Amino acid sequence: MLLNLQFLGAAGTVSGSRYLLEADDVRVLVDCGLFQGSRALRERNWADMPVDPAEIDAAFITHAHLDHSGGLPRLVAQGFDGPVFATPPTADLVDNLLLDAAQIQEHEAEYANYRGFSKHRPARPLFTTADAKAAIRHLRALPFHQPFTLSPQLSAVFRRSGHLLGAGGVLFTLSGDLGTRRVMFSGDVGRSNSELHMPPDRLPAVDYLVCEGTYGDRKRPDIDVREALADIVNRSASRDGALIIPVFAAGRMQDMLWLLKQLEASRQIPSLPVFVDSPLGVECTGTYLRFARELKFGALGTVTGERVWPTHTDFCANIVDSKNVNLHHGACIILSSSGMATGGRVLFHLRKRLPDPRTTVLFVGHQAAGTRGRLLLDGAPEVKIHGRYIPVNAQVCELQGVSGHADRDELLQWIESADARPGEIFITHAEPEAGSALVDALRGRGYRARAARDGERVVLA
Ligand SMILES: [Zn+2]
Repeated sequence: MLLNLQFLGAAGTVSGSRYLLEADDVRVLVDCGLFQGSRALRERNWADMPVDPAEIDAAFITHAHLDHSGGLPRLVAQGFDGPVFATPPTADLVDNLLLDAAQIQEHEAEYANYRGFSKHRPARPLFTTADAKAAIRHLRALPFHQPFTLSPQLSAVFRRSGHLLGAGGVLFTLSGDLGTRRVMFSGDVGRSNSELHMPPDRLPAVDYLVCEGTYGDRKRPDIDVREALADIVNRSASRDGALIIPVFAAGRMQDMLWLLKQLEASRQIPSLPVFVDSPLGVECTGTYLRFARELKFGALGTVTGERVWPTHTDFCANIVDSKNVNLHHGACIILSSSGMATGGRVLFHLRKRLPDPRTTVLFVGHQAAGTRGRLLLDGAPEVKIHGRYIPVNAQVCELQGVSGHADRDELLQWIESADARPGEIFITHAEPEAGSALVDALRGRGYRARAARDGERVVLA
C-alpha cells in the first residue's frame, strides 16, 4: 500500500488550497484554488505545479470559492484531462464563479494594455473565458454521501461541511495489504448555527485529517445578529437614507437576503426596496434557489423566491438597472459586490452616496488591511474611487457574526464530534498564528496535530 500526501498550497496561508493525494497508482488533487493576497502569493498562480497536471487522475473541489476552485482553468490548460468531482450545487456555483473571474481578468488585461501599465507585456489574463469553459466541461456532479469508486482499492465521498451552498469535505478510503486507511479533507468548515447553511456532518473516524484553521486563534463574540441588523436597518430607514451592504456574491449575499427576509417577516424592520446589484450575485442567488433543498429550511417544502428574499427585491441584471438604483430616493437597501469595496459595482454606489450623511455603509465580513473597506471602517474622511477623492459623510458600521467559518471552539467541537480520534491532524488554510494556536489547543486535548508545511510531502502508509 502506498499513501502519500503533499501540500501544494494553503499551508501557512489561507488561500491556494491544493493538496495531492497519491493512493497506490491513483493521483488525486483535492481543491485547486487561487492564491490571493500579497503580490508574492498571486505570482504563484502563474507558477507550474510540482506535479505534471497530465499525471493527475482526478480532482475534487470542496466548494466553489475561488481560493478552492480558481486554479482549475490553468490546470486543464496545462494538460489535466480527468474528471473534476464536485457536489451538484458546487458544480453550478463553480460554473458562475469561473466565468465571472475570467471576464474580470480579460477586462483587466485589456485595460492594462490600453493604459500600458502592466509589467507583463502584453498583459495576459491568468485564464480566459475559453479556459474557464474548458475547465467547466470536466465537472462531474457527485451528490453528498454517494461514494465514488476511483479504483478497486480507493473510494471517495463528499460529506457536508456547512460554510457555503454545496460545500463538502472529502473522505478517501484506501484498502490494501495494511488494512484500511481513511483520509479526510475538511474543506472550509462552517458554523453549526448558520441561519441559512446546513451544519457540518459529524467527523467520521479517520486515520488522517487535513483540517482548515482559518479562525484557529479566535472566538467570535456572542451577539444576536438579527437584533443587531434590525437596529442598523431601522436607524438607516429613519434617516430616509440608503443602506449599502458590500458583500461577496456567493454565500454572504444570500445570507444577508435571508436575514433581511426574516426581519421583514417578523416585522422587526419595515418592508424596504432592496436592490441586488451584482451580476454574479444574481446568478449565485439563482443557484441557491435551485438547490434550496440543500439549505437549512429546504426541507420545509417548495421554496420560492418570495420565501427567501425580501418582498420588494429588485435584481439588477444589466447596467441600465444598476444605474436606476442611483435614481432611487428615500430609504432602501443596496447589496452589491465586492465585499471589501475593492472593485465591482458597489463602487458606483459608494461614489454617489458616501458624501450623503443619510447613507449607511455596512460591512459584514473581514476587511483586509489596505482595502477601501478597511479604510472606511477605520474612519477615513475621504476615499479614492475611480481616480477621484470622495468625501465620507455616511455612517460606516460593521456586523459581526455573519461568517461562513467555524471559530476556534466550533472547529474543536467538530473534531471532537468523531467517534474515534483522528490518528493525526494536519492544519492547513490558516495564517501561521491561527494555525499554531489551533495546533496547541489540539495538543492540549491530547491530539496528534501539526501545521502543514508548504510543499511538504508526507508518507502516510
Ligand atoms: Zn470558502
